[in-house]
Amino acid sequence: MDFALTEQQELIRKEVAALARSFSLDYWLEKDKKAEYPWDWVKTFAQAGWLGMIIPEEYGGSGLGVTEASLMLYEICAAGAGTSGASPIHFYVFPPMPVVKHGAEALKQKYLPRIATGEIVMSFGVTEPNAGTDTSRIVTRAEHAGDRFIVNGRKVWNTNAREATHMLLLARTAPREAAKPFGGMTLFFTEFDRSKITVREIEKLGRAAVDSNEIFIDGLEVPVENVVGEVGKGFYHLLDSLNPERILTGIEAVGIGRAALERAVQYAKDRVVFDRPIGQNQAIAHPLALAWAKLEQAELMCLKAAWLFDNGRPCGAEANTAKLLAAEAGFEACDAALQTHGGYGYAKEFYVERLWREIRLYKIAPVSQQMVLNYLSEHVLGLPKSY
Ligand SMILES: Cc1cc2nc3c(=O)[nH]c(=O)nc-3n(C[C@H](O)[C@H](O)[C@H](O)COP(=O)(O)OP(=O)(O)OC[C@H]3O[C@@H](n4cnc5c(N)ncnc54)[C@H](O)[C@@H]3O)c2cc1C
Repeated sequence: MDFALTEQQELIRKEVAALARSFSLDYWLEKDKKAEYPWDWVKTFAQAGWLGMIIPEEYGGSGLGVTEASLMLYEICAAGAGTSGASPIHFYVFPPMPVVKHGAEALKQKYLPRIATGEIVMSFGVTEPNAGTDTSRIVTRAEHAGDRFIVNGRKVWNTNAREATHMLLLARTAPREAAKPFGGMTLFFTEFDRSKITVREIEKLGRAAVDSNEIFIDGLEVPVENVVGEVGKGFYHLLDSLNPERILTGIEAVGIGRAALERAVQYAKDRVVFDRPIGQNQAIAHPLALAWAKLEQAELMCLKAAWLFDNGRPCGAEANTAKLLAAEAGFEACDAALQTHGGYGYAKEFYVERLWREIRLYKIAPVSQQMVLNYLSEHVLGLPKSY
């Protein structure tokens, strides 16, 4: 067993950390306040060649794996960028994955090089108003009509839809009753045709810089060559996105926790109350020490899951566990950091409140903690299905 990173992986950490830390915490505060997409951040990462990390070299990327992408997103978050900085970048990692793994050659040639350069901005259309946790209940329908599919329906929580040029879209091509619940769904890589898609933005608790939306799809035409993999097998192809998404959001939560912890530790050393630094009180020190330990634990799980995925091994249990532990550990670290700051924890200018708001998301999305526990109960422990 070898826990050491390779030289290349160490270099990725170092270079991404330097790039991410060249954007100040005030930059992110401003983006959050103005709800402004961080274009200069995305362009900087594009110019430095980081967006094509998982795109194979023959299509203009670096041909690396989810492990390297995890290291990149960890450093982005540890730098304090939070989900505001991580989300625009992770959309270059997990939505293209099914295209890399299952896409036809022509589809790969057409789109992957443009993803690698950042020319394409992706969104991910799975969740629907009546089908969040239970994906099999989606009703967005794609009808085969000659050389194209015509899509009608509605998606919700579509991240990036305000800016997206393209979308990875899951739609029903056969009724739920006609196939197994998870059969009969097809995955499309489609252009985000604004003449056929209406976008309504959702105001939310955190990550105002990166938009979340409800979208209404009315007669969207998708050429048959834009089907990813096989018709009717879309959900199974999507798993090659969903497991990386769980791993990446897990490691992001670890990074955000670390960023909050770094600030809290400094504050605990500097802030003097009752004539001594507050960090001398175990009631302040212990929650921070415990947060550190839990972040370490969660990080190991994320990297194990990433290694399994990159080595083509089953990783469902580990990817889910990584997200579960990291969301808890990250939230506890941010909460302890906020508490350490006392009243100033509530002030925006001390930066941790944004991280605290943003990290709450990971207990809900991309999959809720309860559904991870359901998955582990059933698939790992062999208990009867509870839903
Ligand atoms: C900011 C944000 C960004 C997102 N981005 C995207 C995106 O880009 N693309 C996309 O497709 N989706 C996206 N999502 C959607 C996200 O994946 C869903 O919100 C999530 O999967 C939960 O679905 P839901 O909100 O419909 O909850 P529901 O399915 O309505 O569930 C509600 C609650 O009940 C619990 N619950 C339901 N059934 C059970 C059960 N049997 N046992 C125990 N608990 C249960 C759930 O865990 C949850 O806590 C995003 C969500 C948010 C908030």
